[in-house]
Parts: sequence; structure tokens; C-alpha cells
Amino acid sequence: MHYNLGFQREKVNIEENKSLSGLTFFNSRGHARFYAEPETIGELRDALRMAAEENLRIQVIGSGTHTILPDGGINGLLISMKRLKGITIKGALITAMAGESLDEVINTAIEHNLMGLEEFGGIPGTIAAAIRINASSQSKHIGEYHFYTDTMTFDGKIHRKPDYLDFFNSRRNILEENEILLSTTLRLKEGKRTAEARIKKERYTELMFIPPCKNFIGNVFKDGSTYKASDLIKKAGMVGDKGLRCEFSSVQSNCLFSYPECTEKDVKKLIEMAVNEVERICGEHLELSVSIVSEN
Ligand SMILES: Cc1cc2nc3c(=O)[nH]c(=O)nc-3n(C[C@H](O)[C@H](O)[C@H](O)COP(=O)(O)OP(=O)(O)OC[C@H]3O[C@@H](n4cnc5c(N)ncnc54)[C@H](O)[C@@H]3O)c2cc1C
Repeated sequence: MHYNLGFQREKVNIEENKSLSGLTFFNSRGHARFYAEPETIGELRDALRMAAEENLRIQVIGSGTHTILPDGGINGLLISMKRLKGITIKGALITAMAGESLDEVINTAIEHNLMGLEEFGGIPGTIAAAIRINASSQSKHIGEYHFYTDTMTFDGKIHRKPDYLDFFNSRRNILEENEILLSTTLRLKEGKRTAEARIKKERYTELMFIPPCKNFIGNVFKDGSTYKASDLIKKAGMVGDKGLRCEFSSVQSNCLFSYPECTEKDVKKLIEMAVNEVERICGEHLELSVSIVSEN
């Protein structure tokens, strides 16, 4: 179905009854009532108008490596931002549209003698989600490079969020519930050692141990200021088989591997068990990093 309003020039393609299978690393079984992959800001606005007119719930994803969609499906509009592309450079500033992969942003920055992002090498997914969850590598957060972000609220209005509003306390979300990230601008360091930067990035990619692939959910919980979630999961004895069709990895214990027949219920159950056991044994409350979308 093509949807546009009379006075809009752009048309967004909206698929009906779209299978969720393959849209995220966790293979959900359900369907989305409506699904759109806008390639321009105009198309995104069209999709949002359609949702408002039809009174639909809106759910946003990037490339889906960090989201668990419900097996019962989504009775609304699912928007994937992965096709909204473009990168521009101005001095030490790099601006990337929501759908650019973090990997592409790092490579483009290095090509233009801009340094700082190498440590995020190997993290799968889009730049928008990396900013949304304040992606981290070792003890570094991508928010440290944030300059400003442009967003669109569900009413189609565009907003600019500069960095001075203290968004990047690592436990807070930069976006409101009704806000979609359009593009983000990072301020990097200018330098000439591009060969070294490339090697550094590759080293971090190798350090990932688990190559990004379907069925792996990485960084399930956020690290705290005094602990690493992976250490607590290990200490609480949550690694390995717990009688469910998914388990925390023995190589990277904050990564969850799901078997093909695994359901959303299995994942939720394992996460709940981990939270309870870590609280009981370690006295810490784990906070989810992965996004779990509820049904309806
Ligand atoms: C093997 C593996 C290793 C990983 N290692 C790391 C790691 O070291 N550090 C780390 O931080 N993460 C890690 N991750 C987690 C994850 O891949 C990243 O955090 C990545 O940024 C998610 O990108 P995505 O586009 O796939 O997100 P998605 O799953 O598509 O979305 C994640 C969240 O962002 C929201 N979102 C996406 N796009 C937008 C937008 N345009 N506007 C508003 N909201 C949006 C979604 O609603 C959802 O809540 C790892 C994952 C895997 C599979």
C-alpha cells in the first residue's frame, strides 16, 4: 500500500501483515499489522501521519540487533529506520543519518582523519540505536562524542538536542518515548594516523569474540558504575544451560544465544532469572540494555 497525504510529495511504501522473521537478530514469530522502511524524512513523516490517522501504535527499530519483538506480533505500525542513509563531514564534525551502520560511520571518520570511534569497532547495528542506548566499549561510551542529535516526534515536528542537556548519563535515554532519531552529529579528534586508527579498530573488532550473527543478543544488560554486567551474570551462576531454549554465553556472559526453536517467553524467563539471581547473590539490580517490545 502506498500512503501519502494530498499535499505531500513523497510516498512511503507501507506493507501490511509483515512477517517479523528476519527483521531482528532474535527471530520473532509474529507479524506487524503495518511495516515501513522510510528512505527520506518526508517518507517518515508520511508514515507517522498515517499512524496518527489510523490511531496506530508506533514502534521503531534500526537494524534489529538489540530488540526482541513479541511472538504475538505488533498490532500497529513498525518503522525500520535502516534505509535512512547519508554521512557528511564538516571539520571535526561527522553527521550520520539514523540508518547508517556504526561500522560505516567509524570507517568514514577514519578516511577523513577523524579519530576516537575506533574502540566501537565490531558493535553491530545503526548509529541511531548506538546513540539511543549510549553504546559502550570497554569503559567508553559513544555519548562522549555526541555534539547534537536531530529527532522527529510522532506529530512530525523536528527537534534539535544539543549535548549540554546532560543526556549522556549512561543510564538515561536521550530520546522521549514518542521521538525518532533522524541524524546525529559527533565531534571527533582531528589527526593523521589513519593507518594506526584502522588497525586499532580491527583489534577491537577481533576482541568481540562473538561475531555479530543472528541468534546472538549482545549486551543484554547495562554495566553499572561499579560493576560489569558480565561479571555479575557469571558470579550468579547464570552462564550455560538453564533448561530453556536460550542461554548466556560462556565466552561473553552478557551475550545471550537463542536456539532456533526459542520463543520470546524463553528469553524473558532467562532474563528474569538472571535479574533475580544477581540481586540475591550479588546484591545488585541489573538494568536491561536490550529493548523488549510488548505485545499489542
Ligand atoms: C554480538 C553482539 C555484540 C554486541 N556488542 C555490543 C557492545 O559491545 N556494546 C554495545 O553497546 N552494544 C553491543 N551490542 C548491542 C547492539 O548491537 C548495539 O547496541 C547497536 O547499537 C544496536 O543497533 P540496532 O540498529 O541493531 O538496534 P535495534 O535493535 O534496531 O534498536 C535498539 C533500540 O534503539 C531504538 N532505535 C533504533 N533506531 C532508532 C531511531 N532511529 N530512533 C529512535 N529509536 C531507535 C529501538 O527502538 C530499540 O529500542 C552487541 C550486539 C551483538 C549482537
